[in-house]
Amino acid sequence: MTMEQAAQETNKTNKTNKPNRTMLVKHADVLVTMDGARRELRDGGLYIEDNRIVAVGPTAELPPTADEVLDMRGHLVIPGLVNTHHHMYQSLTRALPAAQNAELFGWLTSLYKVWANLTPEMIGISTLTAMAELLLSGCTTSSDHLYIYPNGSRLDDSIVAARRIGMRFHAARGSMSVGRKDGGLPPDSVVEREAEILKDTQRLIESYHDEGRYAMLRVVVAPCSPFSVSRDLMRESAVMARHYGVSLHTHLAENTNDVAYSHEKFGMTPAQYAEDLGWVGRDVWHAHCVQLDDAGIELFARTGTGVAHCPCSNMRLASGIAPIKRMRLAGVPVGLGVDGSASNDGAQMVAEVRQALLLQRVGFGPDAMTAREALEIATLGGAKVLNRDDIGALAPGMAADFVAFDLRQPLFAGALHDPVAALVFCAPPQVSHSVIGGKVVVKDGQLTTLELGPVIERHNRLAKALYEAAV
Ligand SMILES: [Zn+2]
Repeated sequence: MTMEQAAQETNKTNKTNKPNRTMLVKHADVLVTMDGARRELRDGGLYIEDNRIVAVGPTAELPPTADEVLDMRGHLVIPGLVNTHHHMYQSLTRALPAAQNAELFGWLTSLYKVWANLTPEMIGISTLTAMAELLLSGCTTSSDHLYIYPNGSRLDDSIVAARRIGMRFHAARGSMSVGRKDGGLPPDSVVEREAEILKDTQRLIESYHDEGRYAMLRVVVAPCSPFSVSRDLMRESAVMARHYGVSLHTHLAENTNDVAYSHEKFGMTPAQYAEDLGWVGRDVWHAHCVQLDDAGIELFARTGTGVAHCPCSNMRLASGIAPIKRMRLAGVPVGLGVDGSASNDGAQMVAEVRQALLLQRVGFGPDAMTAREALEIATLGGAKVLNRDDIGALAPGMAADFVAFDLRQPLFAGALHDPVAALVFCAPPQVSHSVIGGKVVVKDGQLTTLELGPVIERHNRLAKALYEAAV
């Protein structure tokens, strides 16, 4: 659906349904719409009914009041940022000494044995902590790729956390089935049986997946990577995902070792392998793709296959510089991901936007990415990668997901001739407000949905226990 069609839908609904609640956002210094005309409105505002936007424009042109009014004087308002790749449980294993200085395969090998001691409580608390960090940094929709389920852990543990904190969530049911004895990378103790993986994935889709517009929760089918699951599981996952109309997600072409494994094991490039498995299309997105070759870029562009670009993680693990400029010129949908907290080790979305811009310039020159392009990748780009047309822009008919940054902070001083560029070029700020589906989730820099202090305290106790069990 285009934004215009969505607006017509909204108008139709309005005639029959009186909203339960309205919200007026007014007097934003600048409001970035990311709409078709990429308007940036001075003294801008929004009018919201329940969970969706019904009007966007200069404050003077909007209804004068509503049930809830947010005066955004002194603020920059943008669409909520979309995070397309994460492993939130890794917030428990940040900066571990054994994994500080390794590339992907060595890094994974030293962490699998720590992660083998995860518990359901740890999954729930680390998801809350990771989501809090994301929310405070401007992210309103996140995917999470959970692919390890020791000691009775389930994806349900993450889903409960997302509902509690109020984040729009794409929960990816990851999996690993090829252990060391079968030529895979993970230890045999952390892999699952393929029949059980598929059965649990089906249960999750049938229990939780919401295909409707403005869905707060979608389930994604997401075997972990070519070096930890079989061809069969990849193929059967694709069949299941298409049967239910849900998206597919995995890791692909992350570094040169990953590409070498693909040649050695499958006799193909990662992109050829993805095509062979049926893992291309608008309903598929792959994390990293740092080493995607020209034929792969052409394939992804032709099929609408998405990429989750994770610049901090790519630098941390020395994976290389993903050719994002070339991908976008070719027409590949690209979104941004913070990646897991053990390879970033931060989940600050504005920081990730900034690193995306800086890293493209290191690789491909000063015009490789502008500040506005970087923001577009983190909003509209992420929405497209997640196969959604109801988030990523502030326009009538879109979900009421937006965030506000206070421009009066020292970090913006001297840059207010262009607050939009300032958000990307200056040091990464935290939000003052975050609204998701019309609900205020962050107000004056504080989460409204939970008391964060005790959650972080518990998180750190669990992280210590996990670390101590492994050393
Ligand atoms: Zn990852």
